[in-house]
Amino acid sequence: MTMTSADLDQALEHARARYVAANPASAAAYEDARAVFPGGTTRSTVYYPPFPLTVGSGAGARITDLDGHEYVDLLGEYTAGLYGHDHPVIRRAIEGALDAGWGYGAPGPGEAQLARVLCERFDSIERVRFTNSGTEANLLALATATTFTGRTSVLVFAGGYHGSVLSFGADGRPLAIDVPHRWVVGTYNDVAGTDELITQHAGDLAAILVEPMLGAGGCVPARLEFLQLLQRRASEVGALLILDEVMTSRMSGGGLQDRLGLRPDLTTLGKYVGGGLSSGAFGGRADVLDLYDGGGVPHAGTFNNNVFSMAAGLAGLTELFTPAVADELFERGEHLRSRLNDVGSAAGVQWTGLGSIMTVHFQRTAITNAADIDPAPGLRELFHLEMLHRGVYLARRGLVALSLSIGADECDRFVEAVGEFVRRFDGVVS
Ligand code: PMP
Repeated sequence: MTMTSADLDQALEHARARYVAANPASAAAYEDARAVFPGGTTRSTVYYPPFPLTVGSGAGARITDLDGHEYVDLLGEYTAGLYGHDHPVIRRAIEGALDAGWGYGAPGPGEAQLARVLCERFDSIERVRFTNSGTEANLLALATATTFTGRTSVLVFAGGYHGSVLSFGADGRPLAIDVPHRWVVGTYNDVAGTDELITQHAGDLAAILVEPMLGAGGCVPARLEFLQLLQRRASEVGALLILDEVMTSRMSGGGLQDRLGLRPDLTTLGKYVGGGLSSGAFGGRADVLDLYDGGGVPHAGTFNNNVFSMAAGLAGLTELFTPAVADELFERGEHLRSRLNDVGSAAGVQWTGLGSIMTVHFQRTAITNAADIDPAPGLRELFHLEMLHRGVYLARRGLVALSLSIGADECDRFVEAVGEFVRRFDGVVS
């Protein structure tokens, strides 16, 4: 059976009406917020029409919205919520920081220890500096690269997301609000084309900024050959390779770079690195990071070393997310994605990703870069609403990021929900 676009419209209309009827408190919260927040939220990512669910509480792998519905949280705060919503180890670390007071305007306890753990775990990170977010980590890494090299061009890739002001659409265009670097935009996974671009811009290339898997851009893993090319050519032309591991650093104790045998000049981190609190970091070659020492370049930031993120980050990395646990989580994700593809691929419901991070797509064709992705907004909306209806919380765009709280039961429940969707909307992908 092939579902027509009229069938899809009808299914969507039904799912939307059911969603609106079930969520009056979230609807009211959204209307209220619109008076003060343009767009109704302070974070574009969490908005979806007709209004997002407002979540009132979370515990373990569950969240509860204002209307009292409980969901299995498979979004995991867009990968930052690695430790779930109330892990006792994280709570204890924050309470310890609370007990000692905060806001010292001075180095505090924990930050150098957290830095040491990162330097020990990531082979390529010899020195590190903390920031407040992944966006800031990338901004600083880029500024570091242009200052270090004395050059101005930066190679990035269509579909890359490196932060709110460092975002590149599938068509390769920077957003209007992007910071004004001299961008050169390549095609992700295009080895020959990228090689050529690097040659063209060799004399002025300060940095190549790349995610080893397009994260927000649809969970498209890079070909190893592509990343190896970037590493080799960056070194040949005197540019710095900045590997944005804000999402992918969870793929092993030493990041995805360790799994792939890469050694970038700089790496950016964020998300779970502060234990689920605001955080980011950029680090790498000592001779480059020494700009901030012998080079005399300042890098300030009131909250770079805020005691809560430092304490929670340290506890998380040392007591919970050990390299062995990172490997286990990777395998759990690989297994889940393969089960989801078993359930959906014949129907054109395919999952791309790596380890514990994945995104659904509604197409039968292969995806190697952002332009290959069918945005399929209607199907994404339907899938999202149907998952919510079944008590499964994920992103409207179809992103799933497993937290450590997600176990076999939650995975089974999710596979079951996706299976039901596939059966119910058989023929949904033509
Ligand atoms: N880089 C990547 C790869 C990301 O996924 C994100 C966040 N989604 C960022 C950078 C920006 O991080 P933040 O939201 O903490 O600014």
